[in-house]
Amino acid sequence: MPPISESRKRILVTGGAGFLGSHLIDRLLSQGHEVICADNLFSSTKRNIDHLHANPRFEFLRHDVCFPLYVEVDEIYNLACPASPIHYQHDPIQTLKTSVHGAINILGLGKRLRCKVLQASTSEVYGDPDIHPQTEDYWGNVNPIGLRSCYDEGKRAAETLFFDYNRQHGLEIKVARIFNTYGPRMHRHDGRVVSNFIVQALLGQPITIYGNGSQTRSFCYVDDLIDGLMKLMASPAEVIGPINIGNTREFSMLELASLVIEITGSRSAIEHLPLPSDDPRQRQPDVTKARNILGWAAETQLRDGIERTVAYFKTILDDEIRP
Ligand code: NAD
Ligand code: UDP
Ligand code: UDP
Repeated sequence: MPPISESRKRILVTGGAGFLGSHLIDRLLSQGHEVICADNLFSSTKRNIDHLHANPRFEFLRHDVCFPLYVEVDEIYNLACPASPIHYQHDPIQTLKTSVHGAINILGLGKRLRCKVLQASTSEVYGDPDIHPQTEDYWGNVNPIGLRSCYDEGKRAAETLFFDYNRQHGLEIKVARIFNTYGPRMHRHDGRVVSNFIVQALLGQPITIYGNGSQTRSFCYVDDLIDGLMKLMASPAEVIGPINIGNTREFSMLELASLVIEITGSRSAIEHLPLPSDDPRQRQPDVTKARNILGWAAETQLRDGIERTVAYFKTILDDEIRP
């Protein structure tokens, strides 16, 4: 099916009601594209896309990517998959099915339509990394049978499927390895560290640091991440990835906690809880490829991004925040 016009495309975003997906859809719609969002709302709320229903170029399908999907589109972003440990460990078999069966169906769709398919892969393919920062040619250090394996191995198998559809069927693929990303519209009970700390600080609850808090992550603000994904999708056909997309500034969880306490002016105490199993000790992307090939680098400072995220959570927790 030809595109609606040279510049206006019909784009499928799976997982489009989620945190990243809903921001991506905002941007695609603002560029004049038509968007189909396919999501089973496993780890998100309809509130993320409430503001879009009035837009005639937006369509929502309640759909599980483990089942075949027949739509006519020009491009596909495959984001469907719970991303926070609480959500993806809730039903680990479903998580693995979503990554693997979901990838097969979405790649089959892309193959029939001969359209580009972008996969939201993850820094988790590196597991608890032995090299630092992580480059794309590092094969990773992943436990195949642990609590995180349903997500890590699922995403690794999905990458394999993407590369095999590329080699075997000539499908144009784009594989992005996304590093920890945060911002407005994270689910308040999502369990990831940024949303947990902010919600706890605003509600005056103890800030839960797992372990001693010396483990590190590099946090990318959502707007920067979406820029990176869209640049990758627009890149020449020979750019297939995998390509790291993330912020290179690395912070310990203790540093993050004190920044959140400072910005919110919270009197929350810090509480140390046991470190979950297989929790990576450190993580930082090498973004040389993204910089050289896509001309992309994250720009938002952690302080600015956390301030914007705090402002969002203040609005949704308004009734519960006591002065
Ligand atoms: P999210 O949980 O907010 O969004 C995922 C969306 O996928 C949700 O709306 C969920 O309902 C939907 N979904 C889950 N299973 C599905 C299924 N079987 N069929 C259809 N929809 C399904 O998470 P997010 O942070 O927006 O992550 C989006 C994608 O980016 C995920 O694939 C995730 O693995 C990847 N990623 C995110 C991060 C991050 O830091 N946010 C890091 C690395 C990778
Ligand atoms: N598929 C889909 N939509 C399509 C085309 C295919 O959901 O428009 C699914 C279908 O379920 C199929 C899977 O994608 O099983 C893989 O398709 P492919 O053509 O690679 O393999 P096959 O059909 O031979 O199993
Ligand atoms: N973490 C924490 N307190 C929380 C939630 C998470 O200290 O309330 C830690 C977690 O153990 C990990 C880091 O923060 O070391 C990032 O966790 P998150 O779940 O956000 O992402 P991931 O581990 O998948 O990178």
